[in-house]
Amino acid sequence: MRQSNMLIPTLREVPKEAEIKSHQLLLKAGYIRKLASGVYNFLPLGKRVLRKVEKIIREEMDRAGAQEVQMPTIQPAEIWEATGRWYTMGGELMRLKDRHDRPFALGATHEEVVTTLVKDEVTSYKKLPFTLYQIQNKFRDEQRPRFGLLRGREFLMKDAYSFHDSFESLDETYQALYDAYSRIFDRLNLNYRSVIADSGAMGGKDTHEFMVLSEVGEDIIAYSNSSDYAANIEMAPVVDQGEKPDVQPKEMEKASTPNAKTMQEVADYLGHALADGMKAIMFKVDGRFVLVIVRGDHEVNDVKLKNLYNADIVELATEEETRGIVGAGFGSLGPVGLPDTVEVVADYAVKYLVNATCGANEDGYHYINVQPERDFQVSHYADLRFIQEGDPSPDGQGTIEFAKGIEVGHIFKLGTLYAEKLGAEFLDHNGKSQPFIMGCYGIGVSRALAAVVEQFGDEDGMNWPKEVRPFDFHLLNLNTKNDEQVELADQLYKQLQDDGYDVLYDDRKERPGVKFNDSDLIGIPYRFVVGKGASEGYIEFKNRQTGEQEDVKTSELTQFIE
Ligand code: ATP
Ligand code: MG
Ligand code: MG
Ligand code: MG
Repeated sequence: MRQSNMLIPTLREVPKEAEIKSHQLLLKAGYIRKLASGVYNFLPLGKRVLRKVEKIIREEMDRAGAQEVQMPTIQPAEIWEATGRWYTMGGELMRLKDRHDRPFALGATHEEVVTTLVKDEVTSYKKLPFTLYQIQNKFRDEQRPRFGLLRGREFLMKDAYSFHDSFESLDETYQALYDAYSRIFDRLNLNYRSVIADSGAMGGKDTHEFMVLSEVGEDIIAYSNSSDYAANIEMAPVVDQGEKPDVQPKEMEKASTPNAKTMQEVADYLGHALADGMKAIMFKVDGRFVLVIVRGDHEVNDVKLKNLYNADIVELATEEETRGIVGAGFGSLGPVGLPDTVEVVADYAVKYLVNATCGANEDGYHYINVQPERDFQVSHYADLRFIQEGDPSPDGQGTIEFAKGIEVGHIFKLGTLYAEKLGAEFLDHNGKSQPFIMGCYGIGVSRALAAVVEQFGDEDGMNWPKEVRPFDFHLLNLNTKNDEQVELADQLYKQLQDDGYDVLYDDRKERPGVKFNDSDLIGIPYRFVVGKGASEGYIEFKNRQTGEQEDVKTSELTQFIE
């Protein structure tokens, strides 16, 4: 491409709103432009890099046996109602109505759509397993869109969904995709770590996030300094200091509550309590502690069951802390699918429950006047805090250290949750109807691109790893008034293209300083400069990554490149 014809609006100054490196450089080097908060145009250079990232992802997904599809962005409300996420996703789900006043959502994720699709198309175990994926814009009305592409409201995601007739088969595909993810992030040259993640109320146990280690990351990773243990801090068990908290149970009014609560009742109840400002409650379920956190003021939003993984204590977070530790997960779902018995464990949990339930009695469960010991068994007084640096690692090896991470990928074993909600079943080898067992696998494509810039950008500009560079070479002609140089540059431009390379050719009538500046900003790793040496048949080569520079004879260019 001739640079004179390309839309590359580089900037001298960084726009004030850009706080972090990737955002600043993407704007400054003319890769992206903002249209609205969290909504960006990809300009020609940005689009080229995006396609390279997509290419890596496609190659590895295809290699892992996944099939590419494209599902609709506009999705009828019914399927979201069926899974309950129409209610639980709250403000994050972008909603619209068609001309007949029928409600729709813009795709924030595609479990509902893909499960509905497969439900109608696959009826027998003989067709299983398979994995579908797509690369498509997603819409989430984030509470705090920020950092440019890192947290957008419209952003590019690769999402994949696998369907199985057994958990063993799910395990296999999960591992295959875990490996594919590792290859993808290796090829992007990212410094990442996979961590145990929070499955929220998704049912399944196994879930991993792929975190790029970065100071601007919004997640905190707790890892052992002497083993492989690494978890999102949301998932790291908290530490019980074993003391009774100084919280007095509230005065109770007249007793009117039945003693036993089934989990389903609590789940149903939660649906009603959400609008009443409840913060958090903790239960013990089948020997495991479950923290239910309700965030947000009066929005039916962000319910998250914190279903601890082999851990038996959790902290009740303050609302402020909760904001930090709970995000609406990939397909987070309302409180469903938990076992039958419930035991409230800490008395401040009970207090919250009491506070929350007073007034939550419209057509819900009348949990007014709940009393500890009478209505719930208080089995454990806990003084809990999150794991901290220096604590012993939960696996018993070494001590915990913290790092910040950017979540670029997230994989889940979903189990049968969505299939059950949407009635998606197949006939197993005994001719019996079974819900599909599913997995889901996301990558933030545009976020990963920004993470690459965050990791590799320097003071001068972009510094792309080989596989995602927007062009193979940047060819600069320093003097467009010198016929000899123009002729040589034109000829090299043609020659490189004939040899199959993608070349950005700076043929603009600009001063050399401007050209070098822009070239550094744009950050193509290999640069050829046609300058004064042209008359002797020499051009200059510069490697952006190593800073190494040398003169190359034009007649030996092909050998040089090899
Ligand atoms: P986060 O915790 O950052 O809000 P998430 O857990 O809500 O992310 P998932 O539902 O797991 O995100 O979606 C899959 C992937 O999509 C994430 O791992 C992330 O890389 C990407 N992603 C999610 N939200 C955004 C966003 N607002 N902007 C850009 N990428 C995003
Ligand atoms: Mg989120
Ligand atoms: Mg997350
Ligand atoms: Mg996630």
